Amino acid sequence: MQSIWREIAYYGRVLKELVFPRRCVVCGYGIEAGYVCEHCRRNYLLQRVLKGEPREEYLAGQAEPVALDVLDSVLLLYKYDGVLKDALHRCKFAAEADLLPFLREEAEAGLPSAKLRWLEQFDIITCVPTSPERLAQRGFDVPQELFGPLLDQRSGSSVYSDAVLERVRHTHPLFELGPEARRQELMGCFALRARFDVRGKHVLLCDDIYTTGSTLCEAAQVLKRAGAAKVSALAFCAARSHWE
Ligand SMILES: [Zn+2]
Repeated sequence: MQSIWREIAYYGRVLKELVFPRRCVVCGYGIEAGYVCEHCRRNYLLQRVLKGEPREEYLAGQAEPVALDVLDSVLLLYKYDGVLKDALHRCKFAAEADLLPFLREEAEAGLPSAKLRWLEQFDIITCVPTSPERLAQRGFDVPQELFGPLLDQRSGSSVYSDAVLERVRHTHPLFELGPEARRQELMGCFALRARFDVRGKHVLLCDDIYTTGSTLCEAAQVLKRAGAAKVSALAFCAARSHWE
């Protein structure tokens, strides 16, 4: 039943767009795609690449890994702020699926042609998987909804698949946990799906929000243990600590 209402809400929104042209949710200016106009988008765009820098204590085996110890690079598209934060929050925690088409267009707008070329270096592109329990509650997978259609269409030698990793253990929300507690909570929650060969490959992992990178770090470690040569990440939004 829930999915029927979601369909009705979605087509209602499409119909509304035909009758009432789409407007920027910040300033009200008429727009053809996305959630905000180009002018307002500039306030949220980050398009920042973090370079992986393994720390000496990690390389010496004296410290547990953090994200940039194991990730080769991370592209952060937007600031997790204002109306984008609100929209993503509503998708994730109130399961408002009708916002997804707008956010998908924002994901595309945040990946200009130069950054699309950045994607060509990867052999395999995939999303951080959502747990089956959360998927059942929410009805959709946020990273896959944001990036799947966009990355699947791409030509070139990279392969997009949503079946590289799976969640084998449910985890509690991480937002109130510190870095070490996050690591503990996530440990062993991902597994490589049987028969997916990542040996020698450069894998791109996509996710919705980059906070401490602990989720991506755990997923990247699973891929590295399975023989991936390099693992990088793409995140739709990044927490404030990564803006400068
Ligand atoms: Zn605007």
